[in-house]
Amino acid sequence: MRLINQAGRVGIEVEGRFIDVAARSEGRFSADPMAVFADWAELASWAGGLVPDFSDPAVDADLLGPPVPTPKQVFAIGLNYKDHAAEAGLPLPESPMVFTKFPTCLVGPNAEVPLTSDRVDWEVEQVVVIGREASHVPAAQAWDYVAGFMVGQDISDRRLQFSDKPPQFSLGKSAEAFGPIGPALVSLDEFEDPDALVLRCWVAGEQMQESTTTNLVFSVSELIAYISGYCPLLPGDLIFTGTPGGVGSVRDPRRYLVAGELIESEIEGIGRLSNRCIEKPEAP
Ligand code: ZN
Repeated sequence: MRLINQAGRVGIEVEGRFIDVAARSEGRFSADPMAVFADWAELASWAGGLVPDFSDPAVDADLLGPPVPTPKQVFAIGLNYKDHAAEAGLPLPESPMVFTKFPTCLVGPNAEVPLTSDRVDWEVEQVVVIGREASHVPAAQAWDYVAGFMVGQDISDRRLQFSDKPPQFSLGKSAEAFGPIGPALVSLDEFEDPDALVLRCWVAGEQMQESTTTNLVFSVSELIAYISGYCPLLPGDLIFTGTPGGVGSVRDPRRYLVAGELIESEIEGIGRLSNRCIEKPEAP
C-alpha cells in the first residue's frame, strides 16, 4: 500500500492514480491523513484489492503534502551509519544518539526549502513510521509496531548546529521546511527485506550519497527497542534513522546548498523527493 497526501486528503496511490480514501470507502475511513493510524490494519486490509477507475485523478506532484503531516513525536538519530561516522572522524556511538526534529519542519516531497545560512547541508534518510503504540518493545518484536517507510531529508544548518559546544542538533535541523518527507508512506509488507534499502541523494544533478540500510550502526528494530524503553512511541510517530556518508560539511572542500539548487533524495521501492532551495525571505 502506498499512502499519499494530496491537497490535504489521504489517498492510496495505484498505477499513478489517486484513490481518495474517504470518498472510495464512502466515509468508512476519514480524509485526514493522521486518521489512518486509528486502525492501520483495517485500512491496509480494505486497500488491498483497490483498482483505480476513470474518476480517480492522476497523482499531482504539485499537490502532494507530507504523508504524515502532524506526528506527535519525531525522533532522529545522529551518526548511525558506519560510513558517515568514519567521514566525520568520529567513533561509532555505543548507544543511539537521539534528538528531535520539531514536527513543524515537516513538508511535502516537492516543497521548497528556504536556506537559513550559507552552511545548510543535505542528509537523505530512511524514515520509519510507527503504526501502533510501542512501549518497552524487544527488538525481536519491533517490526510488529511499524506501519511503513518514507524517504526523508534531514536538512541541517551546520552554522546553527555547531554554533557552540555542545552542539545544538534539534533547532539546527528544524527550521521551516527542513523536514521534507514522502513521496508516499509505503507499508512494510511492500519490502522484501526491510533491513536492506538503497538510499541516494543528488544535489544540482551531482550524486552526493549512496548507501544501504545494511550499513546502519543501530538497525530499525534496535532503535525501536531503545527509544520505546524510555518513552512510548505513538501511532504516526516518525524516526529519521540517520544519514549515510557524503554530506557536504565533511567533503573536501566543504560544499553547502545554494539557492536555486535541487535536492533529490531517493529510496528504492519508495520514490523520490525533489526539493528546490530558495533564498530565505526577509523577515517582516
Ligand atoms: Zn540526520
